[in-house]
Amino acid sequence: MDLRKRTWAEISLDNIEHNYRTIRAALPEGCKFLGVVKADAYGHGAVAVSRRLEAAGAEYLAVSCLDEAAELRDAGIKMPVLILGHTPAEFVPELIARDLTQTVTCEAKAIEYSREAARLGSPLRVHIKVDTGMSRLGFLTAGGHFDQGIRNIVSACVQPFLEPEGIYTHFAVSDEPGEEARAYTLGQFDLFTHVLGALEKEGITFKIRHCANSGAVVNYKETAMDMVRPGLLLYGFGDGGRLGLRPCMRLMTHVSTIKYIDRGLPVSYGGTFVTGRRTRMGVIPIGYADGLLRSLSNNCSFATGSGPAPQRGRICMDMCMIDLTDLPEVNLESLIEIFGEAQSVEDLAARAGTIPYELLCSVSKRVPRVYV
Ligand SMILES: *Cc1c(COP(=O)(O)O)cnc(C)c1O
Repeated sequence: MDLRKRTWAEISLDNIEHNYRTIRAALPEGCKFLGVVKADAYGHGAVAVSRRLEAAGAEYLAVSCLDEAAELRDAGIKMPVLILGHTPAEFVPELIARDLTQTVTCEAKAIEYSREAARLGSPLRVHIKVDTGMSRLGFLTAGGHFDQGIRNIVSACVQPFLEPEGIYTHFAVSDEPGEEARAYTLGQFDLFTHVLGALEKEGITFKIRHCANSGAVVNYKETAMDMVRPGLLLYGFGDGGRLGLRPCMRLMTHVSTIKYIDRGLPVSYGGTFVTGRRTRMGVIPIGYADGLLRSLSNNCSFATGSGPAPQRGRICMDMCMIDLTDLPEVNLESLIEIFGEAQSVEDLAARAGTIPYELLCSVSKRVPRVYV
């Protein structure tokens, strides 16, 4: 079946592997590589990306929730998988049966998880999440929280049916420029190091200590520790061009209809664009239900074989319009690139006032992924 009949995303697994090898080559000897494949591998297809990473030699994967992890196991992925987010304790049997690694973010959950695992008589493998300044998930350790934080982590680690294999923290501003961000990130790393030191004094050590997301892999090599945890870099962005990474997704559509519209006619819902000339208008079958953000309406253009075509009027659920008046070579069925090669997803994201992460994982499930 040809998947390229409407709108599709071309995914290059070779580029994923290239990015993996490029990031890996810059890591210290012996440092493990965890590929973050949450949110369907940032829209690229978690199963396909994970298979490629597994074959290429990555040591670990991470997803956000149990359902994402189950999808990988159902597809036959055997490598270790860390769940970064919360899983309710009633699902501990499934975590154990599927050989998954669960993040533990507080003492109460550690106790619950251990109690559930005890009923099965087999331990649950966990990584301890330390909050060093993101103020999201994890044991609080900043400032006055330090001593209590250490006591709570110790209590979590000595639960009889937990197997604490790893410990990690997450940086809030490692991808931001400037001295303030640098000081904050190094402060988080310093605190994490102190937490590890205090735990060691209590006799608690971990096989895998990790903290580096994409920003830190690029900007703070000293934070690599036992494993790095990049997501965005794997998909080709976030290195400011320094590593030579390659984009892996090209979002494509084609011209489905062309018509000539007189000057002075409003276009699409709300009539927010009015033709200033007789216009050769193309309709393309991609809209916000495919992941093309409506906020880009009247504020972007898409690549044709002969140059950029300005987008006109509100982006609808399933389609939108582009001005082809100055692009007479573009015809019915001509290919249109929304982002990928001629226009980077970073540029389009900037136009939408967002980040490439959001555009990549907005590409909806209606859009077939075509592995090229
Ligand atoms: C999403 C996520 C990552 C990967 O972040 P990138 O910025 O894409 O590298 C790493 N660690 C945690 C805990 C995450 O939630």
